[in-house]
Amino acid sequence: MKKHNFSAGPCILPQEVLLKASEAVMDFNGSGLSLIEISHRSKDFVEVMENARSLALEILGLENKGYKALFLQGGASMQFLMTAYNLLDKKSGYLNTGTWSSKAIKEAKLFGDVVEVGSSKDENFNYIPKGYSVPEGLDYLHLTSNNTIFGTQIKKFPKTDAPLVCDMSSDIFSRQLDFSQFDLIYAGAQKNMGPAGATLVVIKEDILGKVNRQIPSMLDYAVHISKDSMFNTPPVFAVYTSMLTLEWLKSKGGISAIEEVNEKKSQLVYSEIDLNPLFEGFAKKEDRSHMNATFNLVDDRLKETFDTMVKEAGINGINGHRSVGGYRASMYNALSLESVGILVDVMSELERKG
Ligand code: PMP
Repeated sequence: MKKHNFSAGPCILPQEVLLKASEAVMDFNGSGLSLIEISHRSKDFVEVMENARSLALEILGLENKGYKALFLQGGASMQFLMTAYNLLDKKSGYLNTGTWSSKAIKEAKLFGDVVEVGSSKDENFNYIPKGYSVPEGLDYLHLTSNNTIFGTQIKKFPKTDAPLVCDMSSDIFSRQLDFSQFDLIYAGAQKNMGPAGATLVVIKEDILGKVNRQIPSMLDYAVHISKDSMFNTPPVFAVYTSMLTLEWLKSKGGISAIEEVNEKKSQLVYSEIDLNPLFEGFAKKEDRSHMNATFNLVDDRLKETFDTMVKEAGINGINGHRSVGGYRASMYNALSLESVGILVDVMSELERKG
């Protein structure tokens, strides 16, 4: 039986994408060869890379606006240092909204000054800081749009003259935003895009070339741009599967259509959390993530019963991250409203039993 997969990442992908990806592993485009045993310089794969890059820009509404899309390796964690390596000359700003922002800050400090413009560490990152001021003259301001572990999400992005860099690993392609307000967006593939192994970087070319340091080729955005994201062997399977997911998203009506479903899913789960006296939400209501809902049982003695019911319903992956505890329901693009309904049924069944 296929499980209802609420895993935080790697996570659920559309069934039809998995099917097409597995077919290509056996026989790519009827070539008699596997996708993963052909040259990445072959015409068929170069087309995949070009298609994936242009679909990413098209879906984000960033075509013909001076942006380039790259599929790189090293995960989103590599972008923590690559962004600073390429962009941090003197002083950068970071909004500290959780584990991933903190890790990005740690890396950036190796390259220059870091001003923490705001932090929600004081309350274990259960909210998004607001009303902070952004100093003049920053090389860039770094934000994390969705905090996968704590279940918070930035709803309103700051207006600033500094270039905006945003880690969108866990909510890219899930909601409509004016993506042109960002100068660099990065996202590990393994949530809304594909398998682990590729990281999408969308970058406005004119922010490059402003630092006074030598950058090793593999870490230099300009090098990857000049080689059309094929400087070295790309992660072919991850790029191909990401392309399939982007095609799937486009066929469903793009971000505006998926956002409607995502809103229904998150409303369903949060209204159960709020109405059911056995549960309480972790994140502040106004900052709740539409992708990762974090919640706890009010009475931990019900844990065993609840966990058993969850398992019997075929639900996978709702244990909270160790730094928050409790539960986390991740509801990425490929998770159906029906699966969220099953989880909510189990939660209300617990109340009836209790
Ligand atoms: N940023 C965010 C928001 C994440 O959720 C994660 C991983 N879950 C990362 C960065 C790190 O990604 P990776 O494991 O690809 O380095």
